Amino acid sequence: MREEYNPEVDSEIVIGRFIKQGDEYIRAEGDLVYPLGEDTFTWCRHVEKDSCRKNPEEHEHYNGAKNARYMDGKYEWSEMGPEHSQEEIDERLNSDEPGVTKWANWTEYFPEDHGDFGTYYLQIVKVQ
Ligand SMILES: [Zn+2]
Repeated sequence: MREEYNPEVDSEIVIGRFIKQGDEYIRAEGDLVYPLGEDTFTWCRHVEKDSCRKNPEEHEHYNGAKNARYMDGKYEWSEMGPEHSQEEIDERLNSDEPGVTKWANWTEYFPEDHGDFGTYYLQIVKVQ
């Protein structure tokens, strides 16, 4: 595990998603992999059946980040979405909307609330 981000070799940050069982954090599927050194970007994620209030079938979710940065062992970003098309997320990213501030570091677990679908906890796993 490396906490030093070296811009010459590292281009991505990998943030693990954990669920809490009792006092333990258990690694779940679906790492978040974000580009380092990019302030604004979008990504697309496959959504399983019955994990979205707007559409019970499998489909894609489009999210975006702005003001993303990695500094002193902490990755921070403002998240927008999910939306159901690239056009919609591009539009939101280009608006003045602030987004939801999220962060992750190497030692703590940042709670990410998914409403009825529970809470995931985020922690940086590696830079690569
Ligand atoms: Zn959806």
